[in-house]
Amino acid sequence: MRPTRSRTPRGFILSLAMAALAAGGSLTLAAAQPKADRLVTGSIPANTKMPAAKPWSGESGASGHPEMTAEAIRAAADDFPRCIQSLWPQAARHGVSRASFETLTNGLKPDLRLMDLMDSQPEFTKSFWDYLDVLITDARIQKGRELLEKYRPVFDRVEHAYGVDRHILAAIWGVETNYSTLAGDRPVLRSVATLACIGRRQAYFRDEFLIALEILHRRDIAPEHFVGSWAGAFGPTQFMPRAFKRFAVDFDGDGHRDTVDSIPDMLASTANMMKRNGWQAGHSWGYEVVVPATLDFSLADKARMLSMRQWEQLGVHRVNRAAFPRPDDHAFLLVPAGVQGPGFLMTHNFRVIMKYNPAEAYALAIGHLADRLRGGAAFVQDWPRYERVLSRAERLELQQLLANHGFNIGEPDGRLGGETRAAIRAFQSRTGRVPDGFASASVLDMLRGR
Ligand code: CA
Repeated sequence: MRPTRSRTPRGFILSLAMAALAAGGSLTLAAAQPKADRLVTGSIPANTKMPAAKPWSGESGASGHPEMTAEAIRAAADDFPRCIQSLWPQAARHGVSRASFETLTNGLKPDLRLMDLMDSQPEFTKSFWDYLDVLITDARIQKGRELLEKYRPVFDRVEHAYGVDRHILAAIWGVETNYSTLAGDRPVLRSVATLACIGRRQAYFRDEFLIALEILHRRDIAPEHFVGSWAGAFGPTQFMPRAFKRFAVDFDGDGHRDTVDSIPDMLASTANMMKRNGWQAGHSWGYEVVVPATLDFSLADKARMLSMRQWEQLGVHRVNRAAFPRPDDHAFLLVPAGVQGPGFLMTHNFRVIMKYNPAEAYALAIGHLADRLRGGAAFVQDWPRYERVLSRAERLELQQLLANHGFNIGEPDGRLGGETRAAIRAFQSRTGRVPDGFASASVLDMLRGR
């Protein structure tokens, strides 16, 4: 098994979103049909025509995991009814009645298409800047401002109760589902039941399935609206069942925690999650900064939390030369595109956003969209748009070459995380380049020895 740190369902969802982007598509988390009347309510009108579901390819998964071979998938699919029934004692411990269990699981069929989606490894990945371009658009800023105005009394109450900035909540809503228009239309119970009994993440999804049963048994969410992404994330801000259980609140006081059809419950539940994850009220997530080319780039590491004052002493300053509001706050430096792109000082609240979604590009999109909704300016510095983004094969080759050169990158997986960046920095230092850790095509060429 590979390390699972970045392999959460959100990671899967993000990979899928990236794949959709790479294929030239829009950022859909599932084959959702945007409908004007789904806006805001998150509900699906009864007359909505569902697109024909794509069948399973019948092929083994790309992960090579023994549970992902075509034979293992077929065998597990044959065993699906018995597997689901075997979970009854655990469902009972979740407070699900026998009658509910029978009603909810009777006739439940697995959705084998999820096996293709779980193991899809997009050949091309979007660059940081392409990703931000897709998520931060004038339309999304405009729509977010309209919703902040429309639901101003609710945002007022939620902000007061939880101390989480309304712009962050609106940005999560905007980035996760484009304000409820792309929330997904796969029945959550079927998705998590499938993943609980078939494929390589069964232990993880068993709890998600049991909690999904619990949600339906308690009638928190209307069954026909309990739909979402293929990995089981549902509603405007894409809660997973387990996160729902921990964080959802009944803010409108109707006795149900409904993060799908109740805007107050949805916003308050999202705020509650951010607060419980450590959100610091009144603080920013971070700042765009100018990084001098002479900086020791080994400092650009999320384990290196220095005070704003210390960063200023190292020559790092805000783009508009404004002072940092709290010079004693600590932050880490993120330089996602190397010395030729913008830098960011990320405070504690950025880490809180990353608990929601562990991808840096995603968390930066949420922070930046929040700033834009508040009336803030676009990023000032240019991205190195002339840089070609490495394909998956090239990323794997880069990692293998770094390993061959004696650098520790863990197991090559085609994902360019902190370990790979550190190895690139070490390689760049050794060869007299600015060690900014950016995986450019020229670094790959140098590694190839050209
Ligand atoms: Ca409620």
